[in-house]
Amino acid sequence: MSITVYNTLIRKKVPFNTIEPGRVRMYVCGPTVYDHAHIGHGKLYISMDMILRYLRYTGLDVLYVQNITDVGHLLDSGEDRIMKGARREQTDPMQVVERYMRSYMDDMDALHNIRPDIMPRAAGHVPEQIAAVEQLIKNGNAYEVNGSVYFDVSSFPEYGKLSGRKIEELQEGTRLNTRAEKRRPEDFALWKRADPEHIMRWNSPWGEGFPGWHIECTAMAIKYLGANFDIHGGGLENVFPHNECEIAQSEALSGETFANFWLHAGSLTVSGVKMSKSLGNSVTIQDALNEYPAEVIRMFVLSSHYRSPIDYSKEAVDAAYKGWQRLIGPALSVQQILLTTQESDAAQSNFSSTIKQTRDDFKTAMDDDFNAPKAIACLFDFAKDVNGLLSEYPRPDDATLQSIAEVYNDLAGTVLGLLPANSTTSVNRDNELIEILVDLRKTARKQKDFATSDAIRDKLATIGVILEDGQSGTTWKTGFSNLSE
Ligand SMILES: [Zn+2]
Repeated sequence: MSITVYNTLIRKKVPFNTIEPGRVRMYVCGPTVYDHAHIGHGKLYISMDMILRYLRYTGLDVLYVQNITDVGHLLDSGEDRIMKGARREQTDPMQVVERYMRSYMDDMDALHNIRPDIMPRAAGHVPEQIAAVEQLIKNGNAYEVNGSVYFDVSSFPEYGKLSGRKIEELQEGTRLNTRAEKRRPEDFALWKRADPEHIMRWNSPWGEGFPGWHIECTAMAIKYLGANFDIHGGGLENVFPHNECEIAQSEALSGETFANFWLHAGSLTVSGVKMSKSLGNSVTIQDALNEYPAEVIRMFVLSSHYRSPIDYSKEAVDAAYKGWQRLIGPALSVQQILLTTQESDAAQSNFSSTIKQTRDDFKTAMDDDFNAPKAIACLFDFAKDVNGLLSEYPRPDDATLQSIAEVYNDLAGTVLGLLPANSTTSVNRDNELIEILVDLRKTARKQKDFATSDAIRDKLATIGVILEDGQSGTTWKTGFSNLSE
């Protein structure tokens, strides 16, 4: 295998190898579902999706697990995020979970992120988490105080190996209300006793309570992927404390290395500022999708290396929009030529070396720690070459056009998810649908219903179909085919 990855655990780029030949077991920390997902989540999960897609594209069989956090993830105030959502919406916590889990799934589908193979929920795995905590107490890595159980950080000398933090730094930020009962400030909760007003509670050997956030990922990753698996992914902001604690618990539990490779995606800011509800600069995925096609949001995210931070701004996403149109324009032109002209006017062309070079360069870029921006640069070069070829007369033969379409389908479509859904397979049906809408608009105009006729025109424009009213009626074109203008 020729893939190299940057492994956060050892802070360098190393060859990627799998535990079992041909098979990758991969875990990614999922969302806490108490509100709509924002574009920071979009950045993280598009990055992980690109990694998954590429690994599968190279022929690896990837088992992809991503959890849903629906209990135990506390705010700095000590309040459970799910209970906060329930209070805000005056509803049951599990109703909040259902609502925002579905919203998250809709967002991920809309962004063309491939669904994980298994999406375990923390509240559905409380027995596994209790068993893990019991085992940690037995192993001498945890202790109980007043119905809560804490991990004894001093029992795991390698604590800090992922984040590179020292014990003094670890003591900061520990919650005041739990500080008194912990042996050391850096110890962290595995199980918390439930105060009387806490409605999310389960029976345990230590009384009624609820699991800590970190133990859920340990319990579910081990359950579905085994004690030792290949890739653990997540956001850079989760390296400490979340992932660090996962390693300590898991390795203390099994005595095995938890994940071999730790891959972290850089964070996202909005116009240079960290996104936060209190600053009012939070952009949900739905907000973003109301403004831009999903492929453009993917293009924006994948135009920077997944480990780099990115800044979301109108200018930056508009620039990605233009770039995306330039990138895929030739693919749409190729389809249109194939469907609308006859091969009898075609010339034999020798484009196969360009195609091979593009595929090779793309693979080299992606093999190098999933360097999507470099892979996209290869596709830009390819787009330029294809445009040059298409401007020649007579047009290239069908075989050449087909192999160009395949490059787009494989690299821009299958690996990066940048090709509009169905654009390569159903152009005919799309054309008919557009004709139907053009006719409806004509009827609306005759009836002087200009609100409807304008809405049809504007909505078509958002999917790249431009209507033009002329003397002989309305004609239309896809906005992508003449992007060089
Ligand atoms: Zn996690």
